[in-house]
Amino acid sequence: MDKISVLDKTFVPFIGHDELMGCIDSVAERINKDFEGATDVPIVLCILNGAIMFTGELMQRLNFPCQLVSTKMTSYVGTSTTGEVQQTMPLTASVKGRRVIIAEDIIDTGLTIRAMKKILEDEGATEVRVCTMLFKPEAYRTGEHIDYVGKEIANRFIIGFGLDYNELGRNLRDIYVLEDSTFR
Ligand code: 5GP
Repeated sequence: MDKISVLDKTFVPFIGHDELMGCIDSVAERINKDFEGATDVPIVLCILNGAIMFTGELMQRLNFPCQLVSTKMTSYVGTSTTGEVQQTMPLTASVKGRRVIIAEDIIDTGLTIRAMKKILEDEGATEVRVCTMLFKPEAYRTGEHIDYVGKEIANRFIIGFGLDYNELGRNLRDIYVLEDSTFR
């Protein structure tokens, strides 16, 4: 993998596609174990846009009946969080009386997950579990419990495999990190 340029920034290779697939295998295995024999059709909630690739890969590995629901949450502009989370597209189906597994691409400050959990509880979900492909422990500040983590990474800005820089880079198969980023 080589360096790439996206708009005004240079990104270098960080996590290859095969390693990502391994992380998703391991997360799926843990979820399958916890939901073995489920008869209630749990919901897998994809937080658009970033988690679209991860959710697609995860769903293919889940071996119990589950329903895909989506919503859109927005907090990032450019390479950093605004600190304000907004639900910019409502849930595509009701979660009332249902168990929900949130599928997130990356957890950074934790503000998105905290806001998402509150919405799901207000909408009557009976249980909410949090699953994320990537997690930045150094940036985490809300302390919400995270049930399933694919991989922990340093507090740097990344793109690829669903993650964007000003809407570009989501289609990359691998993950890239901003070159020389000290990030915030
Ligand atoms: P949090 O609310 O936990 O601070 O941030 C969660 C959201 O911020 C993620 O779903 C993702 O959209 C965005 N985000 C956090 N870190 C990064 C990053 O390194 N790169 C990109 N492209 N988005 C990020």
